[in-house]
Amino acid sequence: MKVETKCVCCGRDIEMEVDEVGFSNPAINTKVWLTNINCNRCSVYKSKRSKCVSRIVYACEFLELCRRKGESKSDDIVAAKLQALTREFCQLTCDFQYLELVWDVEFVKMLTEKPSKAMQIVNMYARGIKNMSRKIHEVQA
Ligand SMILES: [Zn+2]
Repeated sequence: MKVETKCVCCGRDIEMEVDEVGFSNPAINTKVWLTNINCNRCSVYKSKRSKCVSRIVYACEFLELCRRKGESKSDDIVAAKLQALTREFCQLTCDFQYLELVWDVEFVKMLTEKPSKAMQIVNMYARGIKNMSRKIHEVQA
């Protein structure tokens, strides 16, 4: 049977085929379930983004560890890695927001200065790109 809902992330209409028997199982709260569905586009983005963020956080943790051990020569290697990863993150997020790539070396600088704040820094950049997209698409509308 077909059910209709909206993507929890972007609000796009979704029509999907569900198993009728499974769907009528009284143990499943289908109303709640239906309000938590992502469209394909958002699911793909979220999964790629989460993999990329994990790699950024891991690189930052590695950087902290090396610094604690006094191995400062790893700084350049990790910075180069972070440059590639932050570009990938910005590319993913900009593509998702229908924007041309926005990337700044400042992103890498912030991460290498405060590696323990990696998650907050990444989220701040994601918010920045999202706000930029909102402004640009508002102007065009
Ligand atoms: Zn969506």
